Amino acid sequence: MKKLSLTNKIFMALILGVLSGLLLYPFRENEIVKKYIIDFFFNFLGTGFIRAIRMIVVPLVFCSLTVGAAGIEDIKKLGRVGIKTLVFYLGTTAVAITLALGVGSFINPGKGVHLSRIVETNISVGETKPFVDVLLGMIPINPVEALAKGDMLQIIVFSIVFGIAMALLGDKVSTVRKGMEELNNLVLKMVEIVMQLAPFGVYGLIGKTFATLGYTAMLPLMKYFIGVVIVLILHYLITYQTLLILVAKYNPLKFLKKFSGPMMVAFSTSSSSATLPSSMECLQKDFGVSKSISSFTLPLGSTINMDGTAIMQGVATIFIAQIYGVHLTMGDFITVIITATLASIGTAGVPGVGVIMLGMVLQQVGLPLEGMALVMGIDRFVDMFRTVTNITGDAICTLIIAKTEGELIDDEVITIKKNKLV
Ligand code: ASP
Repeated sequence: MKKLSLTNKIFMALILGVLSGLLLYPFRENEIVKKYIIDFFFNFLGTGFIRAIRMIVVPLVFCSLTVGAAGIEDIKKLGRVGIKTLVFYLGTTAVAITLALGVGSFINPGKGVHLSRIVETNISVGETKPFVDVLLGMIPINPVEALAKGDMLQIIVFSIVFGIAMALLGDKVSTVRKGMEELNNLVLKMVEIVMQLAPFGVYGLIGKTFATLGYTAMLPLMKYFIGVVIVLILHYLITYQTLLILVAKYNPLKFLKKFSGPMMVAFSTSSSSATLPSSMECLQKDFGVSKSISSFTLPLGSTINMDGTAIMQGVATIFIAQIYGVHLTMGDFITVIITATLASIGTAGVPGVGVIMLGMVLQQVGLPLEGMALVMGIDRFVDMFRTVTNITGDAICTLIIAKTEGELIDDEVITIKKNKLV
């Protein structure tokens, strides 16, 4: 109920922001409107909100990745299944983001709008770094400096090594581990607090955008939204269906029918974690997957596997680069793929975290975080769609693991073929 009301508030703020912006657009050159409303009032609300988000990015990435990587302990225990699951989760996320970058470059969601009119920033993207430098740049020589500078890839690498060491030491560092878990909960609470400010932030961001650009802001916003949804659907049709048919030997339509319940829960809650009980029940009862597999793959997936989120980040990166007129190089694309794939490990399965992690992807390729303005305004809605993809990826992985482990799942594809033969 509470979550829903925040969504409603954000939606109202979005509408009000559009209306106020459009109303002020004809007077945008007026001294009072410009100085006091656009540059002070809207700017304070919008930029204040983005600064509050930036405040929690580094602690969030560090804590959640450390706790996520510390879970490797279970993976070690589960051996083969663990490795297969991890490879599947990271592999599909990398495919998802690559697809998003490809389709995003094709759709050009941000072409034709110049947000540099809204925010003045010095952007220094463009120089092509050799791939070896991208890789070497991921290894922090001073983790404290990486944290202070907000170098996300370096923070990611440090957090993962930190978490793995914690997992290897097991009970010897149980106090530190518990402390990290508590710290992680604390940071997630901070995310919740900051998200309460979202209606004000969205009002300011959207108000300023529409007051400066007028109706022209509408089209890129729609293009971005539709672009994300298209890639989400393509990812299902291309990646998931292929895996379902070829590896899990399962009829994709039957899958959709059986899995529609959890999908609806994900859509309405925008939370992989909140959907976990329903997908667990569905996979066990309707698909006949054993508890020993599903109770490992699904909870792990709901914390580390976020294909939908990665897709949003890919399309948003292209979108933001285009509205700032920045050309992304191949090296930038690779950086985005690595950052977003690793970031998905640290994205908690709760509403709105994906867009906070987007800040980190942008930072890594040197795009202005202020570019999140438009994306932020409609993120609550994008979140509903991408969460469905997030949990669908977990379910498909579970089916594949069950199949390759020789579990007897209701094998629809084979049944159809047999019937035809008879
Ligand atoms: N809401 C998403 C999830 O729970 C995470 C995100 O992208 O914000 O899966």
